[in-house]
Amino acid sequence: IDDQSPILQINDVRKYFGGVKAVDGVSLQVARGTVHALIGPNGSGKTTTLNVLNGIYSATSGSITFDSTGITSMSPHERAGLGIGRTFQNIRLFPTMSVVENVMIGAQRANNPIEPGREALRQRALSALKFVEMADKAELIVQNLPYGHQRLVEIARALAGHPRLLLLDEPAAGLNQTEKKELGDLLKRLSGHGLTIFLIEHDIGLIEQISDKITVLNFGKKIAEGTPQEVLRHPDVITAYLGA
Ligand code: ADP
Repeated sequence: IDDQSPILQINDVRKYFGGVKAVDGVSLQVARGTVHALIGPNGSGKTTTLNVLNGIYSATSGSITFDSTGITSMSPHERAGLGIGRTFQNIRLFPTMSVVENVMIGAQRANNPIEPGREALRQRALSALKFVEMADKAELIVQNLPYGHQRLVEIARALAGHPRLLLLDEPAAGLNQTEKKELGDLLKRLSGHGLTIFLIEHDIGLIEQISDKITVLNFGKKIAEGTPQEVLRHPDVITAYLGA
């Protein structure tokens, strides 16, 4: 086993919507066990990149390799089975169901030769909830939870599928400063346990707190990449954000 190999490789990926070049020849590598952030102005192609990664969109051209397996033409379900988990920009929980029931849905998605029974799913869901410190809220109805807690339930649902790569689309959106700090601590803790995290995030404070590496997109192309220190001072990045 070569642990030095990147867990995810994106090679010259393009995604065109008619004439719109949403992603226009992006290559990047995500190192195992790291937190890697994808940033850039609105419309720069971040969400499209995430959707191409988990298979919601198929790439117009280019290739994607996950853990040495070519996944470019795999379905989202197959990619989830290989260990790619995901949360969305807008919360996608079942609001009238309990916390643990929502997380059990994520547990069910894990690739298992034998379909686990309900009790096994429940145990897996509870252990994911424990990780995000929400186990004591397992029986509460999701719609009655504060927004920050709903976000944690979403992360628990993704974790219950036992991913090796977790894709997060703006996990800090709508959180207050305390919640952002707690989210940052949680994501660092997850990466400390060996989980690789690739996330889109707008909150520069959170990005600085947690990222090992940052890739910056503008107009569907990569314009900078490196550590937070290198990237957040890069003149092209500042120009892209200021629109100058
Ligand atoms: P970001 O996440 O960085 O804000 P997106 O990936 O959402 O950027 O969008 C990149 C570009 O692709 C934008 O110009 C957007 O309007 C366009 N786009 C995204 N999704 C679609 C789609 N389904 N159909 C047509 N154009 C799209």
